[in-house]
Amino acid sequence: MASFFETRIEFIKGVGPQKAALIGAEIGLFTYGDLIQHYPFRYEDRTKFYPIEEVHGDLPFVQVKGKIRRIETVGEMRKKRLVAHFEDGTGTLELVWFKGIQFVAKKIQLGVEYVVFGKPALFGRKISIAHPELEVLTTQNEKASFLQPVYHTSEKMKAKYLDSKAISKMVRQVMVLSEPHINETLPQSLVTQYGMIEKKLALWHIHFPGNEELLKKAQFRLKFEELFFIQLRLLKLKLTRTEKYRGAVFSDSSLLTDFYKNHLPFDLTNAQKRVIKEIYFDMKSGKQMNRLLQGDVGSGKTIVAFICMLLAVGSGAQASIMAPTEILADQHYQGLKPFADALGIGIAKLTGSSKKSERKVIHAGLLDGGISILVGTHALLEDVVQFKNLGLAIIDEQHRFGVAQRAKLWGKNERFHPHVLVMTATPIPRTLAMTLYGDLEVSIIDEMPAGRKPIKTLHEYDAKRLQVFGFMKQEIKKGRQIYVVYPLIEESSKLDLKDLDDGYESIRRAFPDQHISIVHGKMKPQDKDFEMQRFIKHETQIMVATTVIEVGVNVPNASVMVIENAERFGLAQLHQLRGRVGRGAEQSYCILMTEYKLSKEARMRLETMVRTNNGFEIADVDLQLRGPGDITGTQQSGVLDLLIADIAKDGQILQAARNAASDILEADPKLEKEENRNILRHIKSLRKAVVNWGRIS
Ligand code: ADP
Ligand code: MG
Repeated sequence: MASFFETRIEFIKGVGPQKAALIGAEIGLFTYGDLIQHYPFRYEDRTKFYPIEEVHGDLPFVQVKGKIRRIETVGEMRKKRLVAHFEDGTGTLELVWFKGIQFVAKKIQLGVEYVVFGKPALFGRKISIAHPELEVLTTQNEKASFLQPVYHTSEKMKAKYLDSKAISKMVRQVMVLSEPHINETLPQSLVTQYGMIEKKLALWHIHFPGNEELLKKAQFRLKFEELFFIQLRLLKLKLTRTEKYRGAVFSDSSLLTDFYKNHLPFDLTNAQKRVIKEIYFDMKSGKQMNRLLQGDVGSGKTIVAFICMLLAVGSGAQASIMAPTEILADQHYQGLKPFADALGIGIAKLTGSSKKSERKVIHAGLLDGGISILVGTHALLEDVVQFKNLGLAIIDEQHRFGVAQRAKLWGKNERFHPHVLVMTATPIPRTLAMTLYGDLEVSIIDEMPAGRKPIKTLHEYDAKRLQVFGFMKQEIKKGRQIYVVYPLIEESSKLDLKDLDDGYESIRRAFPDQHISIVHGKMKPQDKDFEMQRFIKHETQIMVATTVIEVGVNVPNASVMVIENAERFGLAQLHQLRGRVGRGAEQSYCILMTEYKLSKEARMRLETMVRTNNGFEIADVDLQLRGPGDITGTQQSGVLDLLIADIAKDGQILQAARNAASDILEADPKLEKEENRNILRHIKSLRKAVVNWGRIS
């Protein structure tokens, strides 16, 4: 039997099939359950009336009461508008209409007391409210003691009178009916522990807040619940996996010893040693490893990855490392091949541009074990790529590798799921990691290799270009190499390419004696490679490029990164780009070039870059500025399509919810105890409804 919450909204009084279809198509609400979970995105404060003398242009919305003294139409033609002069005894302001002038003018009564609601703005020296809500004062709205919910709708819906208020009415009808159907979802002990209000009340007050405090309680309760069930799901997943899947035991370290003794190019940092230990511990434990390795740009994740592969290979298994781009895969391959050769290990590279004949050889080598290490791109996930015994799968530089994709790698070994190590491109904020990778163990490299000088970052306006060129010349004289990067945004790529070409021309003119490389995304892979290689071999001194060089590229002699139109890059990208320098022993520089006019957010990004080199700090600012969806690419991380909680703002609630989930699972791993009955029942209903819970599995 369909539950109450699966009832279709067309059955609400006054809705009917047509409106219901429109609502479904426009904002994806189909059932009572959907409607109840369509939470207001803000509330209008109708709890007080402002005296006009206290109204100023920076207030979001205000409610005032008073009388209209006179009205007039001002301006001609398209600038024509209706102005009503409104006063309340403490001052006056103007109410302005640009549309529906005649209609409004006819309706307005002079000398009658009105309640006015709207967004005040300062024009010249006068406060005005454009297109205000205007209602005759009644005993009901005079009490003015409520927070009015505002719901998302769409233009098409509004045209059919399905505005926020109409939604609110629908919600009220359904909420009244749903009273006997709403179950508590959390154990009583948890509700008590956090002083939460019960589920029913929370739902009521989120839609119809009794007062500010009850609204806060409702928000806390629903955010907590939302995050709690996600964390419970992730932690349960982790638990089941460790119980269910045995991992291959790797303990032969003879290859490693050989590598450490004879080939290790530098001393490992303490942080590198520590995370290698953590990873080894997992790989020897008999349980399948699922670990996230976080480390700032340049902290030396690659060598850690290689050393871990050696433990797997030395113990008779195979290892793979997957990079997000061909350039990066190639660089890993070039970097690791000499070591592999020296140790007598078979290594191969597989990418989208590998030729058919090459693939054949590689596929065979993977099956018969001739190839021990496979370096590649997403191409290595394809089903045709089969291993004899894949023991360790490493994913490099990924922000967007969810549970589903990881599962694809587990499937590459029938007997034992391979151990999985995910390495992030740039640090991600803790809260985000907890949600995206909440089912993984985490290792953090929090130390840079010795002898690195912190990169100096400067923000310069375009007017200073000549000085910047002068500085570049000095650095080249010292034997250094330089990147100059231009933004490339797909939709306007023609325009951007012109920027790049113009930039390349002006640099050629300014540096007639230097060799210059140019690389961009529209080039053929071979040409790109060729130019990249020239720069790596120091045959060119300047690399003019788009962001294709963003991730991972490693040329230690490059010491200056000039970023043009830096205001057009996001923080994570800027930090990644900056990470291309500062890889050698020399002092490195990052110069952010912009025009003079900048948005507030752009300024914040640039200031953050100048202030700090710490990737974790930058990631936090980024999350605050952009929100989680943008950072991770929402499509791939349905887990972040939250109904009410906000990963950027609700870090504390998230931590509390995770702790609670963890405590509960520890005491009752199978959720069999009486006190956890509410949880189990809710999980079952969620599974059915395919909301949060279902999305992440
Ligand atoms: P990322 O963590 O960004 O992937 P890489 O693995 O590319 O960083 O390492 C950056 C550079 O630092 C490389 O040139 C690498 O050889 C070097 N490196 C890594 N570890 C050390 C170390 N312990 N001492 C000195 N250099 C190191
Ligand atoms: Mg790297």
